[in-house]
Amino acid sequence: MSIPHQFEIDQSLRSAVKTLFDKVSLCPPQPRRCLRCGQEMQYLNATFSLSGTDCTWQVLLPICPCELESSHQGPSVTQ
Ligand SMILES: [Zn+2]
Repeated sequence: MSIPHQFEIDQSLRSAVKTLFDKVSLCPPQPRRCLRCGQEMQYLNATFSLSGTDCTWQVLLPICPCELESSHQGPSVTQ
């Protein structure tokens, strides 16, 4: 039986998260190559929001096509 876990973010943690995302969203994405296949990483534009506030951030997440392909096969337990 699983019960949805609810947690409350206190004000200090909330401001810490805001500071973190303010930094991350300002960072220009660096060209990166995948360590697994050597292809150039693509960037996924993700939007994060902090519940209870009207704060949202656009963050570019580096992701490689090979990770997307492997994710189609379900969770892999290789490590
Ligand atoms: Zn790759």
